[in-house]
Amino acid sequence: MTLQVLLPDRVFDSITGQMLDDHVVVIEGDRIVEVAPAGSSGEPPTSRLEGYTLLPGLIDAHTHLAIPLDDGQGFAAVVQRSGAEDALLGVKHARETLVAGFTTVRDIGPWRAFTDLALRNAIEQGWVAGPRMACAGAFVTCPGGGGDITGLAVDVDEVLPRELRFGVTSGVDQMRTTVRQILRYGADFIKVLATGAVLTSGTKPGAPEFTEDELRAAVETASEAGSYVAAHAHGTEGIKRAVRAGVRSIEHGSMLDDEAIDLMVSNGTYLMADLYDGDYILENGPKLGYSEEVLEKTRQTTDVQRAGFAKAIEAGVRIAFGSDAGVFPHGIQARQFSYYVEYGLTPAQAIQSATRWAAELMGWSDRVGSLTPGTFADLVGVEGDPLENVSLLEDIGLVMRGGDWMRGPVG
Ligand SMILES: [Zn+2]
Repeated sequence: MTLQVLLPDRVFDSITGQMLDDHVVVIEGDRIVEVAPAGSSGEPPTSRLEGYTLLPGLIDAHTHLAIPLDDGQGFAAVVQRSGAEDALLGVKHARETLVAGFTTVRDIGPWRAFTDLALRNAIEQGWVAGPRMACAGAFVTCPGGGGDITGLAVDVDEVLPRELRFGVTSGVDQMRTTVRQILRYGADFIKVLATGAVLTSGTKPGAPEFTEDELRAAVETASEAGSYVAAHAHGTEGIKRAVRAGVRSIEHGSMLDDEAIDLMVSNGTYLMADLYDGDYILENGPKLGYSEEVLEKTRQTTDVQRAGFAKAIEAGVRIAFGSDAGVFPHGIQARQFSYYVEYGLTPAQAIQSATRWAAELMGWSDRVGSLTPGTFADLVGVEGDPLENVSLLEDIGLVMRGGDWMRGPVG
């Protein structure tokens, strides 16, 4: 197998959060062999990456690759497209995500069930280029809830194909069946919508949409199958129900109070906070045609989410980088690093949230998120030192996935 010995100016150790000078990264085939002081590995460098910092490939723990970019027109337009179109559009989004340095994503649901799995499988087969994907398969939501298709006339509403309503669920028994089915068709984890959503018209982000018993049934059923639940939750009550029920992560977590934060700390629940997309929506939403309802819900959840994030960090809540890319164009999610630093993480911690910590959330620490021997040779390179300026990550110069360069090096 081909041996590659990369010598950059610096290597970021995502386990310790330390920057290492004068180290080589040794790669054999698609795996990391070691990170060692230059000169000690016995092999001369095969690439001198002057000026660059090498880091583990980045992880975005909240993307929607198999969905057209949100245009603020509501989600009734999903009936105008086939599942094949959604999956093929996902190919474009996957490439944009990968070349931006995100070599792994946790993809948190398509509108048309299982289009994400088609994309994931195509990437795994090597048919198309993209990040490693863990997929939700479908949105588990209550009828008319944040993950349902709302705003339809009654007669149309009643004849939607099952793929568009696969995860619409009510009651404990049906919850168990739905979770089992979604996992049986190949999803990696379960996404439940514990509250209404900002972008789904007619739903209220603050309103809980499942009972604690329903959420507990989802968690139990997923865990019996060796999986876990990620809960979309904006409102305080919905967050608390989901955390008490044992979900592994809270998505958005917009309206945290002290009790919710304490519960998350004591349960070890991860917080995925999409701190960037509120600014994107408020800036671009009016020209995209977003409704006043959605813009108002965005205003109600943006600043309060950022304040809650800062408090959660102080309290020691585990953070995983997640952006909700798909609300904004794929490939620009690294803009969020500056927000994480502005609201309380150090630059090293912000990078850890998108490497080590996100991998831990996904249960994928044995394969991604660090440069530990035996993990995939997924690497990104930036010119300069991102610990001095975390926004350098918005301009990734080098991307390697499984030992193959997807971007650079030049010369
Ligand atoms: Zn989302």
